[in-house]
Amino acid sequence: MGEPAYRAGQVMKWIWGQGIGDFDLMTNITKNLRAKLNNDFQVLWPLVKQAETSVDGTTKFLLRLADGRVIESVIIPAGDHYTQCLSTQVGCPMGCVFCSTGKMGFERNLTSGEISSQIIAARHYLIGKNDPLPVSNLVFMGMGEPLLNWTQVKKALEIIRAADALNFSRRKVTLSTVGVRDKLTEFGDSKLALTAVSLHAPEQSLRKRLMPAAAVYELDELIACLENLPLAPRERITIEYVMLKGINDSLSHARDMVRILSRVKCKINLIKYNPGHEPGFESSDHETIGAFQDFLRSRGFTVMLRKSMGADIDAACGQLKARYADN
Ligand code: SF4
Repeated sequence: MGEPAYRAGQVMKWIWGQGIGDFDLMTNITKNLRAKLNNDFQVLWPLVKQAETSVDGTTKFLLRLADGRVIESVIIPAGDHYTQCLSTQVGCPMGCVFCSTGKMGFERNLTSGEISSQIIAARHYLIGKNDPLPVSNLVFMGMGEPLLNWTQVKKALEIIRAADALNFSRRKVTLSTVGVRDKLTEFGDSKLALTAVSLHAPEQSLRKRLMPAAAVYELDELIACLENLPLAPRERITIEYVMLKGINDSLSHARDMVRILSRVKCKINLIKYNPGHEPGFESSDHETIGAFQDFLRSRGFTVMLRKSMGADIDAACGQLKARYADN
């Protein structure tokens, strides 16, 4: 636009740092540039179409994008802050059989702006509620497989990390993936965020049954990639494992996990399944999860049990949008 470069930083700060999309409010920018910006650009935040808050404080948003499509985002209270779960696609092509989003199929990729502005939408909502708790941790675990939309996700991560934009440090941002050939390595090399991998089964045939897209990126290849991912000295890859009753929760599965993860620098997150509306899947019971966790711990793994949050508001991925679509 023929303007000095520092002006771009100023506009970035207003939009992403302050969440202000009205160019006329950008007071340190010349009148002339404001007029040019008004002429050529528009800032379109996603609209909060619906917000539901659980008894545990989790709030799930249905956000409407400029083209009328709807995505989900969730904020989960964690002590002195919220962790926000971001979507990267409208729907998802991965087809995981236990996931409501997987059932919807794929509509389109989100742009980097649509991904990052979910954070601004949540911040605006919290300001409106006089809620002082900051959104200070992010997980890319909402609708969609982030690495299938790597070009836009990478740009979004750059906005999220940039000091004159959203300014999150790397250790506050985690990207969760089923695993996508080549893109996982590119993501690891970018060092833009921490890595989480949805494993959910310790052998290829079961994994393929639960996550059909895993057929094209075999478990052996995925594990080999994780063994070689560049990590900071004390950093660990998070292995996500949803506990499905009678399907992947036996001690034999735990034994297989130990075997395949023996050379991966990782910690394991066991997730209580949030049943929602998917027929045929139930969460493993308390004792089974305990035994599974104890076995992995006895083999030297760090294992955490992630609580299922927001069960009363359909907070698992895709559930609220599915209900909205049904209505
Ligand atoms: S679990 Fe994640 S990757 Fe699988 S279908 Fe659902 S949104 Fe897609």
